[in-house]
Amino acid sequence: MVIIRVALPIPKRQLFDYRFDGKALDIGVRVAVPFGPRKLIGVVWETSDQSVWDISKLKFIEAVLDDSPIFDPILIKLCSWLAQYYKHPIGDVVQTAMPVALRKGESSQEKPIEFWTLSHQGQTTDLSSLSRAPKQRALLEALQKQDCLKSKAKSEFGAAAIKALVEKALVESISKQVSQEPTWQQNLVVRDKPKANVEQAIAISCIEAKLDQYGCFLLDGITGSGKTEVYLQAIEQVLKQGKQVLILVPEIGLTPQTVHRFKYRFGIEVGVLHSGLNNNERLQVWQQSASAKLGIIIGTRSAIFTPMLKPGLLIVDEEHDSSYKQQDGLRYHARDLAVIRAREENIPLVLGSATPALETLNNALSGKYQHLKLQQRAGNASLATQHVFDIRQQPLKFGVAQGMLERMSQHLQQGSQVMLFINRRGYAPALMCHQCGFVEHCKHCDKPYTVHKQLYKLQCHHCGSAKPIPKTCQQCHSHELVSMGVGTEQLEQGLAEYFPQYSSIRIDSDSARGKNKLDKMLNSINNNEHQILIGTQILSKGHHFPNVTLVLILDVDGALFSADYRAAEHLAQLITQLAGRAGRAEKPGEMWLQTHDPGHPLLQDLINNGYSHFAQYALLERQHANLPPHSFQALFKAQALSARDAFDFLQQIAQLFSHVDGVSCLGPIPALMEKRQGHFRMQLLLQSAQRSSLQKAIGQQIQQIESFQLANKIRWSLDIDPQDFT
Ligand code: ADP
Ligand code: ZN
Ligand code: ZN
Repeated sequence: MVIIRVALPIPKRQLFDYRFDGKALDIGVRVAVPFGPRKLIGVVWETSDQSVWDISKLKFIEAVLDDSPIFDPILIKLCSWLAQYYKHPIGDVVQTAMPVALRKGESSQEKPIEFWTLSHQGQTTDLSSLSRAPKQRALLEALQKQDCLKSKAKSEFGAAAIKALVEKALVESISKQVSQEPTWQQNLVVRDKPKANVEQAIAISCIEAKLDQYGCFLLDGITGSGKTEVYLQAIEQVLKQGKQVLILVPEIGLTPQTVHRFKYRFGIEVGVLHSGLNNNERLQVWQQSASAKLGIIIGTRSAIFTPMLKPGLLIVDEEHDSSYKQQDGLRYHARDLAVIRAREENIPLVLGSATPALETLNNALSGKYQHLKLQQRAGNASLATQHVFDIRQQPLKFGVAQGMLERMSQHLQQGSQVMLFINRRGYAPALMCHQCGFVEHCKHCDKPYTVHKQLYKLQCHHCGSAKPIPKTCQQCHSHELVSMGVGTEQLEQGLAEYFPQYSSIRIDSDSARGKNKLDKMLNSINNNEHQILIGTQILSKGHHFPNVTLVLILDVDGALFSADYRAAEHLAQLITQLAGRAGRAEKPGEMWLQTHDPGHPLLQDLINNGYSHFAQYALLERQHANLPPHSFQALFKAQALSARDAFDFLQQIAQLFSHVDGVSCLGPIPALMEKRQGHFRMQLLLQSAQRSSLQKAIGQQIQQIESFQLANKIRWSLDIDPQDFT
């Protein structure tokens, strides 16, 4: 009799013991087991011939779902590391690492691939008979040349055309068995490879020198310095050895344009893992990567869990991006996990950024990572000059100073594009009564509602609740309600009235929602259909706008005075990234920042000396203040309907750590956002100069904490290496 210890999707820190009538199962195989009245799918994590429970009372494994493990030994190790480091239940870690389709019990074997093909009748049909249905005609014409993948047919010709042809019995479905052997290596080409400049050549040869071993590189290159080109040339060597490359990119940086660059260079299929895929499509990329049928896999955060049969290189692009840190459930950082994975796989890892995170920079400066620098712009881009604009006592029109409007006008008249950045979606941050000063707040979060004029709604950006814009003041019943501050919508409207001869486009998470919408917008900008671009964070990520010569940043003052110690770092990254979006050699750009504090040392340092100077100074400041990366943190968060419960729970935790050597405790204090969705929010911050002391202390106490009575009554979480203190 074998005892099988199974990782189950249950928020408990343990494995569950089952009996199995047969020979021992491999670690990493999925099984179906009874759990109370339910049936669950879990993963075999350990096997044994004993149990601490009465063996005769253990239930039996009901079914074994896989012939061979779905995780390779390294992914199994990574899961165990995650559970241990983030103090997270192993069952939930395993779930996070698994594609949804496998969690639901789908077969892990690769399925035959489905194609559309011509029916017997279709083969003899004359194209001209479809002249009035151009899409159907185009599809039929394509099928006369070769069978078409179903997903490809749908995206290129539309579901309606397919349906019509099926109904006319001209096309039919066939499935083809997938090939057993990877074929991409035979199709590999190298197209339009530029000659690397000196800095690039050095970076490439440093990486190539370490292709068969672990090594971590920080590719620290200003925007447009040719980092992607360095990736491409390093990837080329890896692919030529028949090995695979996994590339992580930030959430909104993953556009078809990005993917196209890799596809085009090497002429091979690229596996893309993005949020738009359905469960089966995601599983397919996972399987093809696991069997090395894909040479290149690109994806966002969770792609770090993609198995590779022949791993050769890991790349994390824009490694400073905050989307790499998961903010709920298993709060892992994909960049940090990439370091662990590269070490386990014994392959190199390249972290690329124009604005490295202070953590990463610190590792490069201390020699832990190899620091590769690109300080010249490659290709035909040139860096924008940077300036501050003092807006004290200046009248503002929809948030823009008169002097800036004049500058915009000059650039527009020269046929250039202008980009305005603002941190707020919506029309205005708040609605205020002009008579009595009353501001409409969300009841659940105690924060002002944002005015969305187009939807005619007040919406809370913290909990999403919404209500119609009121006509009168709740407090004094005056009709004079005015919008305070400026959001993207109001800016767009104001500019449209001020510059009626130019077209403007707004890019924020409201307007860019929907499949391929962002990509269409980016194309229309590069085709010069719009002259004025208005946007939020999305504009700062990865896209280059060669015809933009003026970048205007409207509101940075909030971040200069934030209580969050990372705000300065994030602001500096944002400003530098925005400045890097613009210009080309013959059309250099300029960037202007509107501020009430033009002499602020951070702004001055950044603008006069650049990001890397700023970052070294910021690292010194962190050192003096004992803040990360010069110390290590863990954050307990609690939220409850009663502030007292949240406080008491964290207070009990604080007591557990109060006598631990080398670990200090700050709190409980209210979170930056004290109330959200009707819950009071509190935090307790643990900090230590030694990562190991903090890890050990939490490891010793976590079960005790879970056994507190309040732990079951309120919502709480533990965030190791927290990034977000809101
Ligand atoms: P980054 O990733 O650092 O933003 P890219 O790799 O996208 O930079 O390069 C910026 C531009 O310069 C691109 O248009 C790219 O094709 C071009 N480029 C990069 N390296 C070279 C080179 N060695 N020779 C000519 N053009 C280059
Ligand atoms: Zn709210
Ligand atoms: Zn009023």
